[in-house]
Amino acid sequence: MTGFKPHRIYGIIGCPLGHSLSPLLHTTAFQHLNIPAVLTPWEIRPERLVDFIGAMRLLNIQGACVTIPHKEAVLPLLDELSEGARLMGAVNLIYRQGDLLCGDNTDISGFTAPIKNQHIRGDRVLILGAGGAARAVAAGLKSLGLVDLTVANRNQDRAEPLAETLGLKVVDWADRQAVQADLIINDTPLGMRGQMEDRTPYEAQWFFQGDARGLAYDLIYNPLTTRFLKEAEEAGWRTISGLEMFLGQADQQFFTWIGQRLPQAARMAVREALTG
Ligand code: NAP
Repeated sequence: MTGFKPHRIYGIIGCPLGHSLSPLLHTTAFQHLNIPAVLTPWEIRPERLVDFIGAMRLLNIQGACVTIPHKEAVLPLLDELSEGARLMGAVNLIYRQGDLLCGDNTDISGFTAPIKNQHIRGDRVLILGAGGAARAVAAGLKSLGLVDLTVANRNQDRAEPLAETLGLKVVDWADRQAVQADLIINDTPLGMRGQMEDRTPYEAQWFFQGDARGLAYDLIYNPLTTRFLKEAEEAGWRTISGLEMFLGQADQQFFTWIGQRLPQAARMAVREALTG
C-alpha cells in the first residue's frame, strides 16, 4: 500500500475523566490539518499509572494530556521534566523526545494567554481559592509582573503554604470583599455545571465597591458564563471565561507535539460543544 500512514496515538489520562473536551479539540485539529493522529480518552485508576507509562513506551504512544489525580504522581515515572513542571510540582503534558518520555506543565502559559495583552488598570489581584490551579495562577501573574497578589481560601491552612512559597498576601475567606482588586480570579469550583452552578465565590454587590471596574476571570469553562462572570458583567466589569485558559494550555500542548497552533476549527468545535 503506498501513501498509507499509520495513525499516531495520543491520549488524555485521568480518573474520573468525565466528559473531557480534549479528545474533541485535538482530534478535530489533527483532522483539520490532515495529520493522521487521534487523541483518545483513557480513564486510568491511580494503581494502574505505572502500567500506563509502560504501555506508552511499549506501544510508542506519542503523548498524553494528564489530569487529576495523576498530575503529581506521574513526575517520578518520566525521563525528563521541564522547568515549568518542576516549578509546579505537577505535569499536565507528556511528550516524546526520541525514546524519552518528557513532562511539562502548560497551565501557567494557558492561564496567562488571555490576559497578557489585556489592559489591567492596576496590579492588585484577588485570587479566590488555593488548590492545584492556584499555583499556576500565582506563578503566571508574577510572570506578567503583577506583584500585589492576595489569596483567600475557605480553608486558610491551605492558603498559607502557597502564599509563603509564592510571596502572596493572605486574607480570611470571610473578609475577601475588603480587598480592593483590579483583577479577581475564581479558582474554586463554585459556579461549575451541576450542583455548584447557582453558587459564586464573590457576591454580586461587592463588584460595585469603589468607582473603577476591573477584570473578572473565572477558571471554570462549563458553563461558559458562570454566575460569577454574569454578575461581574452586570456591574460593568470585563470578563474572561475559563475556556480561554483551557484553549491556551491545550494550544501549547498541541504545539509541543506537532509544532503547529490549534486551528480555529478545533477551537470552534469546543465552543459549540459547550453552547450545545
Ligand atoms: P482543587 O485543587 O480541588 O481546589 C479547589 C479549590 O476550591 C480549593 O481552594 C477549595 O478550598 C475551593 N473550594 C472547593 N469547594 C468550595 C466551596 N464550597 N466554597 C469555597 N471554596 C471551595 O481544584 P483546582 O485544580 O485548583 O481547580 C479549581 C478550579 O479551576 C476548578 O473549577 C477547575 O475546573 C478549574 N480549572 C480550570 C482550568 C482551565 O483550563 N480552565 C484548569 C485547571 C483548573 P478548600 O481548600 O477550602 O477545600
